[in-house]
Amino acid sequence: MADESRSNLPSVDYLLGLNALEGEIGIHGRDAVKSAVRTVLDGLRADLRGGDKPAPDDQAIASAVAGRLAEMAQPSLRPVFNLTGTVLHTNLGRAPMPKGAMDAMIRVAGAASNLEFDLDTGRRGDRDVHVEELLRELTGAEAATVVNNNAAAVLLVLNSLTMRKEVPVSRGELIEIGGAFRLPDVMKKAGCKLVEVGTANRTHAKDYAEAITERTGAFLKVHTSNYVVQGFTKSVGEKELAALGAKHDVPLIDDLGAGALVDLTPFGLPREPIVSEVLAQGVAVVTFSGDKLLGGPQAGLIAGRADLIAKIKRNPMKRALRLDKLTIAALEAVLRLYRDPGRLAERLPTLAWLSRPVEEIKNNAERVGAALKKQLGETLDISTASCLSQIGSGALPVDRLPSWAVVLRPDGKKRGKGARLKRMAKALRDLDIPVIGRVKDDALWLDCRCLDDAAALIAQLVKLEPGL
Ligand SMILES: *Cc1c(COP(=O)(O)O)cnc(C)c1O
Repeated sequence: MADESRSNLPSVDYLLGLNALEGEIGIHGRDAVKSAVRTVLDGLRADLRGGDKPAPDDQAIASAVAGRLAEMAQPSLRPVFNLTGTVLHTNLGRAPMPKGAMDAMIRVAGAASNLEFDLDTGRRGDRDVHVEELLRELTGAEAATVVNNNAAAVLLVLNSLTMRKEVPVSRGELIEIGGAFRLPDVMKKAGCKLVEVGTANRTHAKDYAEAITERTGAFLKVHTSNYVVQGFTKSVGEKELAALGAKHDVPLIDDLGAGALVDLTPFGLPREPIVSEVLAQGVAVVTFSGDKLLGGPQAGLIAGRADLIAKIKRNPMKRALRLDKLTIAALEAVLRLYRDPGRLAERLPTLAWLSRPVEEIKNNAERVGAALKKQLGETLDISTASCLSQIGSGALPVDRLPSWAVVLRPDGKKRGKGARLKRMAKALRDLDIPVIGRVKDDALWLDCRCLDDAAALIAQLVKLEPGL
């Protein structure tokens, strides 16, 4: 009977008195051990209910408690190996931070800082000053400000400059980005009225011109980050649209998405809009992300005309979207790297990954492939093959970077293959530093573009079951 097995389980107090748990109490504290004991007992009770399984002995329960405690001690947020082939992977934290940015965060993390304190006057200061000068230098803008991410930047700019006003946007630029960022919805939340102009594939200057009324607050251009409109297409460039706006005193806001501070083509990358060039075309305000191509922390950067930036900074919403000191420290350090573009690829991990020579990636893939073969034996077809990485986060949606991967392909017939692939992927995710690959064409692909520490990955492969 169920109740019998329930009563066979020892009490919480009895278990806490066991020698075997004494050490755990020393490490984790009595409350944490007690809570783990309760969780384990609850699990056992559910397991034993209705069956005639005997209750486990004290030793087994104690080791289950120790297991539970170890699990709870593991940080929830932790590093993984991103072998998905998507460099700026939003779900995997996008840009890896350069060393200088990490040092800068540590310097201010555990101490008081001059975050909003003017050391010259001894008075209250503005947290934007730590990055504004650099942003002005790097973009040529009159003024700049920063918020929590680019979605927040778009929301704040529109709310500050166009509330209760009309904002014409081309139908070809009404984007949706992952994570519920849909431009029409963001505009509604910002309190402005979307006026759709043109068609999905073609928008002309006269479409914008005809949309202008006395209620027009701004033109908005949006970089179509995650798709391309191809074929019979026409859009109005920044220069032409800014000039049209200027005639009617309508400023042009431009959401660049990834945005680049420097030309990335010398690094072998496709061309993205460069913030300073966009501003030079007469755009009043640009917004772009800190953790996409910029390669820094999550942030939304806003640069442009001084009068408009001042208005944006006065908006109470700015206070709700402001950056914390750690992010400001990291962002300042990353922006500083851009003052010396010649050395960017050595110093900025995002750029190093994006411009990594395929030979180097292939070497890594071959090392990892050989180690996996040694560990997993012959039941799997393990090889390396060329593949294409993507930049990710919507930046440069169609361009693919030549790369190299380890390919794990289960033998045998089609049946059961899917389950085995899932098992393999799970086993790799269960490693101390989880390894995240991508399942494609009945195989698990581990793109080695973003693998810096192959030795660390290889060292933990001994934990994989050879039969897998
Ligand atoms: C990525 C992107 C955003 C959102 O930026 P986050 O930094 O993810 O908040 C907004 N607009 C465009 C065009 C984008 O590409």
